[in-house]
Amino acid sequence: MNQEAAIKKAFTKNLLLWHASVNKRDLPWKEEQDPYKIWLSEIILQQTRAQQGLPYYLKFTVAYPTVKALAAADDNDVFRIWQGLGYYNRCKNMLATARLVTSEYSGIFPDSYEGLLTLKGIGPYTAAAIASFAFRLPHAVVDGNVYRVLSRYFGIDTPTDSKEGKLLFTALANELLDKANSAHYNQAIMDLGATVCTPKKPICSDCPLSRQCLSAGTGLASILPVKSKKIVVKTRFFAYLLMQFKDTIWIEKRGSGDIWENLHQPFLIENSEHPAATADIISMLASQTGIPPNLIVFKENTQQKLTHQIINTSFFVANLNKKPSPSRTNGIWVSINELKKLAFPKTLVSFFKNNLYF
Ligand code: SF4
Repeated sequence: MNQEAAIKKAFTKNLLLWHASVNKRDLPWKEEQDPYKIWLSEIILQQTRAQQGLPYYLKFTVAYPTVKALAAADDNDVFRIWQGLGYYNRCKNMLATARLVTSEYSGIFPDSYEGLLTLKGIGPYTAAAIASFAFRLPHAVVDGNVYRVLSRYFGIDTPTDSKEGKLLFTALANELLDKANSAHYNQAIMDLGATVCTPKKPICSDCPLSRQCLSAGTGLASILPVKSKKIVVKTRFFAYLLMQFKDTIWIEKRGSGDIWENLHQPFLIENSEHPAATADIISMLASQTGIPPNLIVFKENTQQKLTHQIINTSFFVANLNKKPSPSRTNGIWVSINELKKLAFPKTLVSFFKNNLYF
């Protein structure tokens, strides 16, 4: 056996030994073999840390124990449970896939990697996860944890977000996979990436791969893995006006093609730049709602950082004794008690909690 083959063999062997004897990462979806619950956990965990996703996974599996139950659910109820998890497109795609699996496949997920890939919202990573965890098929998962562990262990600086990088790391992951033990192998490499070979300050002293790893004890781990594209962050300026008439609030549903799709919100105006003064925003809100400026009261400013956007929000309220006629006619008046049944972006939930006491 040449040196390269020996290093690869040691990788798989040491990883599985660590998983069997040391890895104590205990999460409810581990060892799960129901493809629905595995799929659910994978959708929730995209772009989300395990500890943050855990309560959502538990709520979903209690509310919707089968894919048929999820498919039959009311959209508002599902978005309400998802509220706070972000990336709301995932929730929309999840519902679409649940309904497709129910209507086209009688509620049974396809039992092959290729069949899973045909489902909307299921890409190579999720298909490999379901194929290996539910059906014990020999497909290696390749996610951010896997890119990190492999790039550091083998000292590979090919950008992981390039076409070449994706092909290279996928081929390497499948070569290293213990094909008779794909579920444990996949779980092991993801857990190692999440708990030992972490993005910042990997704990090489606790790593079962440190003897052969090209990054152990060097500065390489701080620059690997490499990404070619830098994230462009856009700054946006929102002004919400909470129009209250008796115990009702004017609410509209956000449209498609933007963040927080399908969630609800009070009257919103967006500026490409921050207006010079609060009074300027009040006069814009007044002209678009017909409410006299002296009834519009500034409450607070907040900032929320998303992966690609920074949202600066100013909140205003207007307590009214007659209903105004805002420029947009798609809103409805909802009682404050009923707001609990609708899904809102996190920043609005905090504002409501502080100002409407629900
Ligand atoms: S030795 Fe360090 S850099 Fe290498 S795989 Fe382990 S934790 Fe990561």
